[in-house]
Amino acid sequence: MDESLKLPGHDWPEMKPGWVWLCGAGPGDPGLLTLHAVNALRQADVVIYDALVDEAILSWAPQAEHVYAGKRGGKPSAKQRDISLRLVDLAKEGKRVLRLKGGDPFVFGRGGEEAQTLVQHGVPVRIIPGISAGIGGLAYAGVPVTHRDVNQSVTFVTGHDQSGNTPQSLDWEAISKGSQVLVIYMGMKHIAQITESLRNAGRPASEPVAVVTNATTKNQQVLETTLGTIEADIAAAGLEPPAIICVGRSVLMRQVLDWQGMANGEAPRNLDPLGRGKPAESA
Ligand code: SAH
Repeated sequence: MDESLKLPGHDWPEMKPGWVWLCGAGPGDPGLLTLHAVNALRQADVVIYDALVDEAILSWAPQAEHVYAGKRGGKPSAKQRDISLRLVDLAKEGKRVLRLKGGDPFVFGRGGEEAQTLVQHGVPVRIIPGISAGIGGLAYAGVPVTHRDVNQSVTFVTGHDQSGNTPQSLDWEAISKGSQVLVIYMGMKHIAQITESLRNAGRPASEPVAVVTNATTKNQQVLETTLGTIEADIAAAGLEPPAIICVGRSVLMRQVLDWQGMANGEAPRNLDPLGRGKPAESA
């Protein structure tokens, strides 16, 4: 994007000194930022960003100080409480603070905790939602998170809790029975345990699964597999986090909706992967 490009005409909010804007940066591709995020990037004095935020996005805030607060990539990890208090301090110093988080700040991103701490300290906040990896990342892989012939519900699940273990509070039985499609964040580390739980709860070994790593970035990789073979297939493909794992028949739609593959000249593998036998629009 040309940095001199004006935002479209709109009553864009002004970032006032002493405020913190908690903003989603989307799953990776800078084009998936919201206009509110761009508006914020242009005004911020400080940008505190997470590991999953693309560096290109930071270059759109050349006037701002950039502070890394992520938990990945071999850099020392910042404690959540320290990050929140740092935001409070910067705001109290009168800075315009942009807290930029991957995806959506309120989806498995501890945005709620950060915002709560800010409010508790009397710091005014604005929340800017972002495209969550579990929706936008799957869309880039050609997997619709809901599809009328497949699911009337979708469940977003985290693969580990605060202690780093598979969340004990999750009722896998209920989740397996109740939701046709599961979208699992942070599931790679405990994939064996997660698949075992789903299998024990009755989900078949043949159930389609997609693993999308680095979704929406140049390094995006997509593995189509099944619950029965996922562990071996992840290992064989050498896939590493971050990954979104989608369990359910909506994964089959990738056979006709892999738009990136088609853009590269690949033919759709199957025009009717769910076997409806007629164009969906005629229903
Ligand atoms: N707030 C973020 C999620 C943060 S938790 C959101 O709404 O997307 C971090 C997890 O999100 C990662 O472990 C991974 O499961 C998922 N994730 C985030 N960005 C991703 C990407 N580009 N590709 C695949 N998974 C991603």
